[in-house]
Amino acid sequence: TSFSEIDFSSALSKNIKRCNFVKPTPIQRYAIPVAMAGRDLMACAQTGSGKTAAYCFPIISRILRRDHKKNPAGIVTEDGCLSLKIACPLALILAPTRELSCQIHEEAKKFSNNTGLKVVVVYGGAPIYQQFRNLKKGVDILVATPGRLIDMIERARVSLRNVKYLTLDEADRMLDMGFEPQVRKIVQQMEMPPAGVRQTMLFSATFPIEIQKLASDFLSNYIFLAA
Ligand code: AMP
Repeated sequence: TSFSEIDFSSALSKNIKRCNFVKPTPIQRYAIPVAMAGRDLMACAQTGSGKTAAYCFPIISRILRRDHKKNPAGIVTEDGCLSLKIACPLALILAPTRELSCQIHEEAKKFSNNTGLKVVVVYGGAPIYQQFRNLKKGVDILVATPGRLIDMIERARVSLRNVKYLTLDEADRMLDMGFEPQVRKIVQQMEMPPAGVRQTMLFSATFPIEIQKLASDFLSNYIFLAA
């Protein structure tokens, strides 16, 4: 198989070519069809496996096609956020560290080139004001570390009410670093009415009982992709 055989939106397919990605890695080969079909998934993935593209390609393609509006149960969802000051992303990617969130941001920006989608990153340990300014320009895909995201939510700069795509990257590291309460608080924000259908993907290198518990709490009817 090659990426050209996958039915991505055309702008995304061009970006994939421009990145010189030809052949999907194993995690991409298994995760992409599941994610494109709108299913929740939990996948075993190490750094360097190509997991970033495995979740970014379906998210970008589905946002561009507005697949989240065609969701079951006739739940109508809105894209726009009426308030100019509160950023309301459609997709949220949570990562444990500043380094990983910045890497994901760089990759996601390349994949979103010429699509009109805005990708923004927020992380702790850096001044918050520049991040406020970046958010004000609008955001479709938000990459965030948990602590800084909660800070942004509490300061009413970010609302998760429109999130239709949630990814937890390196979920085991997030738990090891003590972020479980923050992660749970963040997901709770997405479950408040009028939350519609959300697609959730969890990537982890290991599957201790705590990760399995997160998966059963956050994912619905999910597919488990083991390496
Ligand atoms: P990740 O595991 O997502 O951090 O990706 C590791 C590296 O592999 C990144 O530099 C990606 O740009 C690159 N990469 C991911 N998927 C592919 C692919 N299918 N073909 C070539 N390079 C890839």
